[in-house]
Amino acid sequence: MNEYDSDLLAQSLINDGFLPVKEPGDADLILINTCSVRAKPEQKALSLLGRMIDIKKRKPGLILGLVGCVAQQGGSGLIERFPELDLVMGPREVGRVRDCLAEIEERGKKVVAINLDESPPIPEPCRGYFTGRFTGYISIMEGCDNFCSYCIVPFVRGREVSKPPRSIIAEAELLVSEGVRDITLLGQNVNSYMWKGEGGEVWDFPMLLREVGRIKELWRLRFTTSHPKDLSKDLISCFDQIEALCPHIHLPFQAGSNSVLRRMRRGYTRERYLELISSLREVRPDIAISSDVMVGFPGETEYDFEMTLDLIKKVEFDALFSFKYSDRRGTLAEKMQPKVEEKEKSRRLATLQSIQRSITLQKNRNLEGKKVMVLVEGVSRRGSQYTGRTDTNKIVNFTCKYNPIGGLIKVKIKDGLLNSLRGECLMAE
Ligand code: SAH
Ligand code: SF4
Repeated sequence: MNEYDSDLLAQSLINDGFLPVKEPGDADLILINTCSVRAKPEQKALSLLGRMIDIKKRKPGLILGLVGCVAQQGGSGLIERFPELDLVMGPREVGRVRDCLAEIEERGKKVVAINLDESPPIPEPCRGYFTGRFTGYISIMEGCDNFCSYCIVPFVRGREVSKPPRSIIAEAELLVSEGVRDITLLGQNVNSYMWKGEGGEVWDFPMLLREVGRIKELWRLRFTTSHPKDLSKDLISCFDQIEALCPHIHLPFQAGSNSVLRRMRRGYTRERYLELISSLREVRPDIAISSDVMVGFPGETEYDFEMTLDLIKKVEFDALFSFKYSDRRGTLAEKMQPKVEEKEKSRRLATLQSIQRSITLQKNRNLEGKKVMVLVEGVSRRGSQYTGRTDTNKIVNFTCKYNPIGGLIKVKIKDGLLNSLRGECLMAE
């Protein structure tokens, strides 16, 4: 979502005549887009801000802004704390970046833009911006109404608002016209997408998916993140019905213990979650499932943690993003007791990650000798191979005698590693 917002800012600035530079020291404008979902990204954002402030001290004409969720939460307090800042702008306001910059330049004043009632920003088309990219994101809604007890998102991204389906489809068509072949629809809770137009017109998420799935030359369609409590039968059946829809779902479970899930206010039980996994696998046996989980939520006991490990072993996720719970200011969980000690959280995280590592590795090894279709995104990090993804979202690095970038090609997997697959392209087939 932050990548999408950063692209939106960049397109708007380029349309206004700005040009990208390679080094921050060469820039006249630096905007730092930030995330405050956990303590760690927030600390990272502030340390980057510190480095940019050093640049500003050497170059006083530079306009420096902090954007995104950290900015939203800090508001004008950030300007007091960091007087070098010219702009503090929340995620809901990114569509107004040019107005804010004009105010700074023309009136020489600092701007704090943190209105949460703004409609979700819609990017201005910027010809050629996506050329050379084969995968892209479209945010289809902003905010969240769920108020899970640990989560800052509803406070910093505001109430849930869906974007008009026509503007989403137009964005998708634009991306495809620039060569993008794999689109991910984004939202904090995409499956609660709901748009009500004039004259009683109603669009839910499966309807939107079906419509975007019809765009010619869009080879792959994905969405993230879905909430288990809103995963309808209709949405599950889309995996069988929409050809472009990839067999992959990211379905965060957060905890395997019902008592923790209840205190997290997640709205489902572990039994319900497991039922959903079975229904997904029934409709699409090859579906890859990834998830998010947290350890060390306030009051999480050793037994609760065991229940989380048990769920991980039962589901066998293809990929799992695991985090240590961290207090977020103003949330319900911030006030919950007892807190789990940092050392204990680290131990639980290490145990969990080692179990998941062996599951992921086994799943990737099972693909050795198999042929998979890869959308080739570019050259691999080391430069000697090409890189792309399977429809199940696994990274494949492979050798190929011709340049396959931008194509959908068949690759034979030779090695299943922990974070990627290695293979060779099959030219004759
Ligand atoms: N809307 C998504 C999650 C968005 S936040 C959903 O409901 O699943 C991304 C992930 O960050 C969450 O899935 C959760 O695992 C993690 N996260 C959120 N708040 C956190 C906190 N206070 N401490 C640690 N991890 C957190
Ligand atoms: Fe946060 Fe819960 Fe909303 Fe996800 S669904 S963004 S975890 S409040």
